[in-house]
Amino acid sequence: MKGLTGKNVLITGASSGIGQAIAIRLAQEGCNIAINYRKNAEEAAETEELAMQKACGQEVENCGVKSLIVQGDVSKEDEIIEVINTVIDRFGSLDILVNNAGIQTECPSHELSTAEFDRVLDINLRGAFLCARETIKHLLSRQQSGSIINISSVHEIIPRPTYLSYSISKGGMGNLTKTLALEYADRQIRVNAIAPGATVTPINQDWIENPDKKAVVESHIPMGRAGTSEEMAAAVAFLASDEAAYITGQTLYIDGGLTLYADFREAWSA
Ligand code: NAD
Repeated sequence: MKGLTGKNVLITGASSGIGQAIAIRLAQEGCNIAINYRKNAEEAAETEELAMQKACGQEVENCGVKSLIVQGDVSKEDEIIEVINTVIDRFGSLDILVNNAGIQTECPSHELSTAEFDRVLDINLRGAFLCARETIKHLLSRQQSGSIINISSVHEIIPRPTYLSYSISKGGMGNLTKTLALEYADRQIRVNAIAPGATVTPINQDWIENPDKKAVVESHIPMGRAGTSEEMAAAVAFLASDEAAYITGQTLYIDGGLTLYADFREAWSA
């Protein structure tokens, strides 16, 4: 896609699922990829291997795409400053940030502990803010254009009972996207989000591996199937590219129609 070759990208939580697919896709598009992970170094190494294979085939040494694995917990300010500095040191600059790291936990809201409420928000929302802030500081210091893409969720707008902190984090991500987009539009820093619907990744292991549960999930999706990480990565590549040069402050829903009020497929009100 236009304008991606040679761009330096940091993807948080890129050792699995959607983040891994984004790393692979952006490497294929010619970006230099920094793969952030928190815990699983082996998975991060696998992401790097897959991405470099897809981008370079047998020519890893000469293909011009660079990769870097960088450990850090997005909820920890000092670690994120270190992560961003490492990427800038190694690649020379940072052009594109993908805020992908996220967790979800289930609990009836009246039983949800303060610590658990904070944990999800610290990673999903505060982490995205910290990474965005440090990236924007860098871009402004170089008077450089750039792009931030937040991985939100259909729960940016759909309430999700028993996943209170997750819903709040993604709702907040919607406004993080819009507010930063408005604040930095005149500095040519674009900020957008994608909002995946149900996607086949480790976060959904519970229903992916159970055919009955999977059928229930898919019965709620107008297109009748869950999405793939690759479908999410394609939209990220588009938003990061110059094809989307005039798009900022938007959340792109990629959900097989999940946000179309599926209950209205058939008329049920007079
Ligand atoms: P996943 O569990 O495979 O990916 C989440 C990644 O974030 C993991 O690699 C995990 O190690 C990493 N992570 C967690 N806490 C971290 C921290 N503190 N610092 C750094 N990394 C951390 O699941 P996924 O589905 O690929 O999720 C990726 C993003 O997509 C998440 O933000 C999630 O909310 C969002 N999303 C997923 C779906 C879906 O159905 N899979 C739907 C909507 C939104």
